[in-house]
Amino acid sequence: MDLLVEEGVTSFKQFMAYPGVFYSDDGQILRAMQRSADNGGLIMMHAENGIAIDVLVEQALARGETDPRYHGEVRKALLEAEATHRAIKLAQVAGAPLYVVHVSAMEAVAELARARDEGLNVFGETCPQYLFLSTDNLAEPDFEGSKYVCSTPLRPKEHQAKLWQGLRTNDLQVVSTDHCPFCFVGQKELGRGDFSKIPNGLPGVENRMDLLHQAVVDGHITRRRWIEIACATPARMFGMYPKKGTIAPGADADVVIYDPHAEQIISAETHHMNVDYSAYEGKRLTGRVETVLSRGELVITEREYTGHAGHGTYTPRSTCQYLN
Ligand SMILES: [Zn+2]
Repeated sequence: MDLLVEEGVTSFKQFMAYPGVFYSDDGQILRAMQRSADNGGLIMMHAENGIAIDVLVEQALARGETDPRYHGEVRKALLEAEATHRAIKLAQVAGAPLYVVHVSAMEAVAELARARDEGLNVFGETCPQYLFLSTDNLAEPDFEGSKYVCSTPLRPKEHQAKLWQGLRTNDLQVVSTDHCPFCFVGQKELGRGDFSKIPNGLPGVENRMDLLHQAVVDGHITRRRWIEIACATPARMFGMYPKKGTIAPGADADVVIYDPHAEQIISAETHHMNVDYSAYEGKRLTGRVETVLSRGELVITEREYTGHAGHGTYTPRSTCQYLN
């Protein structure tokens, strides 16, 4: 971890879920947090109590509950909240900052809000799927619900208002995508008859900015907040400011020219992601990207890709610039 931070890789994801795969126990988590307290790294936590969830998965399958919607039922909001609380306390003991990824449960937002009220360097992100989709999607018939299987899972609709509220009050600071696509044909289908075998994750990197602009149109957030949660704060959170996350002399000329009045309909027919479905198929949005500059070079020109392979460069990151 020390070597990585020196090389400009300053954030580390840990998992309280997925026992036997990515899972870290509390002792391993504490040690990593102690390390990051020393070297300036930022622990990004997948906060779900995976040990308890695995018990509920086994019990559900034994009862014959095999459809995708049970994925959402066994990964309980309380087990996200419990893990979030535990991660906060471990970080507090270690004296380290904490960033909780893909928050979906309102009970977890409450844990973050309480920690922030205590003045702790605790941060949280949510993702468009939790703001725009719900357990209604997971319950779609004919195994269609598998398209929406991800972890943390989609929640009942009433959680959405609390996520929007958290974004407005800065109890949540970032909207990322947790982009992790699997095709429906041949991949999601692996979990027919056993929801626990459905690959976890859904595509969304292409839709994030436009969905969040729709949230501006719908009145959930202001236009300024849209830029903060999608661009400015992530750059500071992950040590890329002032090279990224601002338009200013000396910064990289990464600029999006956005048409806030254009209309579009999201579809797998027209998206660019290499995946055979869209989680937002048929959704109408107001607003779309016109032109994009990356370090001063046109990479999208009037909605057409005009970039070239090899343009990308490694950006070494400094430590989190968003601490209290
Ligand atoms: Zn995760």
